[in-house]
Formats: sequence, structure tokens, C-alpha cells
Amino acid sequence: TITPLIAGNWKMNGLSASLDEAAALKEALDQQPAACRVALCPPATLIAQMAWRLKGGAVLIGAQDCHAAAEGAYTGSISAAMLKDAGAGLVILGHSERRQGFGETDADVAAKVEAALAAGLEPIVCVGETLEERDAGKAVEVVQRQVSGSLPDSLAGAAFSVAYEPVWAIGTGRTPTLEQIAEVHDAVRATLEQRFGQHGSGIAILYGGSVKPANAAEILKVSNVGGALVGGASLKAQDFLGIIRAL
Ligand code: 13P
Repeated sequence: TITPLIAGNWKMNGLSASLDEAAALKEALDQQPAACRVALCPPATLIAQMAWRLKGGAVLIGAQDCHAAAEGAYTGSISAAMLKDAGAGLVILGHSERRQGFGETDADVAAKVEAALAAGLEPIVCVGETLEERDAGKAVEVVQRQVSGSLPDSLAGAAFSVAYEPVWAIGTGRTPTLEQIAEVHDAVRATLEQRFGQHGSGIAILYGGSVKPANAAEILKVSNVGGALVGGASLKAQDFLGIIRAL
């Protein structure tokens, strides 16, 4: 059985005051534990402070990206080991906002996954088609190619998850139909099993893209959906809790 993961991606939102929301989430889960793993992925500047505020609670902390190199002359970049040292346990990699805005390829993402594993971080590897690709009937093909190319062989036996985030559903309020979500998640599962055998059957496949309290229950019930990667609705503890409690 797969332990579901519900992860919040704060993207480039949040200053120290936002940690009150993270603390409120922790307190609510202290009172009534979640039926899944819960993570918050704040901007890197907040990781250390958040780790301190959430100490002893159930909320895991993740980063949103890391550099592929272990260390060195990469001005402005942050290594996986630095994120781990600051208090992160997970890291989102290959988010479409990194692929589109920073030109990250599947090979780049795979190299970052290697770096994360070497530092002891659990990767959440993101994939997802554009609207153009979906309209051309290529959603499954694109996602399977991204999964294959973004996952290095070293993930065999390792803890990680895959997040399916259709680009056109991110921050738009639009979501695929439940049938469309099932189709892609089933295809990702098949790819994972082909690649990693039985280990691939136990990997959580998260759905992301306009998840909110009102649609979380039906999405989380879909075949091969093992959690959610939540953007906007993870910024407020009440909204995020509404999604966590929907499971
Ligand atoms: P929204 O939940 O704001 O649509 O963002 C999804 C996302 O990109 C999470 O990584």
C-alpha cells in the first residue's frame, strides 16, 4: 500500500510572517493527525526558519529546486546538501515553471534527481503536458517521455514520488476530467513498473494543478492518484487543511 503525500508548493510566495500559516498547520495536525504524509515547500530562504518553527511536528519540509552539482562556482545557486542542511527532507524537481522559465530538460532534471539522492533528499519529480500537446492528443506520450527521461536509474529502491501537473491546469482554476487524470496516472504507473518493477508499484503519483478543498476528495479517489501537489491553496493553513482532510 502507498502512503499518500500531500505537498504544498509555495513557489515564490512567502516572507517570515507566512510561517504563522505553517505553524497553524502544524498545530492542527498535532491535534488531529493527517491520514497521509504532509509537506510544505517554501522558498529556500524560509526553510531553516520553518524547520525550527515546525520542529517535532508531522509536517515535512521540502525545497522547490536544487543545483545538479554538489558544490562549486555556481553563483546564486543552492546545492541539495545545503537544502538538507537547512532542514529540508524533500525537493520538488522539474516543475513546469522551471522547465519553461529556465529551460530545464529531462536530462537536467535527472541530474538534479541524482544530486538530491546523493544528499539524502527525497525527490518529487514533476511532469505534465502543455495545452497544445493535450489538444494534439499527445498528453500520455509526452508525460511518459518526461517520466522516462527525468528519472535516473539510481532511483531504483529509493524513496521518491512523481507529480503529474498538466501545465494548463496550474494556477488557472481549470482541471482535467477525472477520466483524463486516471488515464495519465495509469500510464505513469505502467512506465514506473516497466522501469523499476515492483518498486514502481509502490511509488506515489501526485496530481497537481488547481487542487482546492472543493475538488480534492474526488481527485484523490482517482485510480493511481497517491496524493496532491498544491500551489495556491497551500499558502493558507485552512485551505491546505481542507485538502488534507479530504483524503
Ligand atoms: P496551483 O495549485 O496554484 O494550480 O499550482 C499547482 C502547482 O504548480 C504546484 O506545484
